[in-house]
Amino acid sequence: MNNNYWEIPENKLALEISNLNKYYDKDNKNFALNNVSLNIPAGSIFGLLGPNGAGKSTLINIISGAVIKTSGKVIVWGYDIDKHRKQSKLAIGVVPQELNIDAFFTPQETLNLHSGMFNVPKNSWRTDELLELMDLSDKAKSYSRTLSGGMRRRLLVAKAMVHSPPIVILDEPTAGVDVELRQKLWKYFKKLNKQGVTIILTTHYLEEAENLCDHIAIVNKGKIIANETKKSLLTKSNKKIINIKLSKNEFSEKDKNFLKNIGELIIYENQVEFHFNPNKVSTKKVIETLYNSDLDIIDFSTKDISLEDIFINMTNEYNRKI
Ligand code: ADP
Ligand code: MG
Repeated sequence: MNNNYWEIPENKLALEISNLNKYYDKDNKNFALNNVSLNIPAGSIFGLLGPNGAGKSTLINIISGAVIKTSGKVIVWGYDIDKHRKQSKLAIGVVPQELNIDAFFTPQETLNLHSGMFNVPKNSWRTDELLELMDLSDKAKSYSRTLSGGMRRRLLVAKAMVHSPPIVILDEPTAGVDVELRQKLWKYFKKLNKQGVTIILTTHYLEEAENLCDHIAIVNKGKIIANETKKSLLTKSNKKIINIKLSKNEFSEKDKNFLKNIGELIIYENQVEFHFNPNKVSTKKVIETLYNSDLDIIDFSTKDISLEDIFINMTNEYNRKI
């Protein structure tokens, strides 16, 4: 990875976004982004997670210059997009959500063409290396329109890399991609990141954010509702869940009260979920309480709260508030 001439910005931020607003309608009635402020550390794998329509693509299209913001400030690798448009564009490689490939060019021609467009000196073109990396060498000279969806996705990743940008932005990189290719792409993104590339990706797959990202911001209805390291997001809720299967779903008041004292009891048909905070109540205490109860337990499993639970809680809470 030839990244040397892109020195890390002094404040070590790949991206600084302040008070960003976007309205697509002329009378500024419906916002797509509302006062978004976000710092993305250089060297991170940063996930923008949110449901469809949250504003993720709008955000990254503004960063990459494909959509014009209504107001606010965006600084890419130290370059203000309003003042240093060219430099800020050069600092980014974008893999768009849509599979918009040049159907009449071969993958080889596509990559050569883009290298030329980014003024990469011919002796530094990475076409062969990138085709190899993306498992497309044997398709180098086929028309791109004959490529499968997965191959097109890989070609777009290669295309984003031709000018060796310090930031790569991926918009829903594995949407509609089969499991095997998804794993392969994840491995590749992690490798790129190890080489020093800052990776920003949008996704509505929680699993993707949980697997790949070290920082996660949750976007909902045009606003950032969480922005933390994955670790802190995951430890935030401090919740553990015990699933209990009972032969009969009968509780004595005594048992109910006992359990309610140390956690939250959620009763389904013949299954019970017991939620507790392991920082406040030890697992031993919970097990002892269950053991000493009159409950006829036939099965038992524990579960840590997942990013999915946190995400659902947060978006629900946010939606209730507005
Ligand atoms: P996401 O990528 O999170 O699914 P988008 O950024 O695509 O969300 O969309 C955010 C909101 O902006 C949605 O309500 C969407 O309908 C609207 N929107 C996106 N692109 C356009 C556009 N070109 N013109 C008008 N509205 C748009
Ligand atoms: Mg999108």
